[in-house]
Amino acid sequence: MKSKNIVWECACGYIQHGDTMPEDCPKCFRVAEFSPVPEDMIEEKEAEHILSMTSEDEDDED
Ligand SMILES: [Zn+2]
Repeated sequence: MKSKNIVWECACGYIQHGDTMPEDCPKCFRVAEFSPVPEDMIEEKEAEHILSMTSEDEDDED
C-alpha cells in the first residue's frame, strides 16, 4: 500500500506527512499553505524539522 508518502511543508515551516494536502496547519493555523516537498529535499527538511522539534524538548523520554 502506498500512502502517507508525501511530505508537505507549510509556509511557516511545519512538516506533515500525508497522501493529500493538509487542510490547515496546527502550528500557524493557516489554511492551504502547504506545498509538497520534492523527494530529494525530504531528508533535509526532516532533519531541520527534527532539530527544531527536539531542541526545546529534551526531557521527554517516552
Ligand atoms: Zn503553518
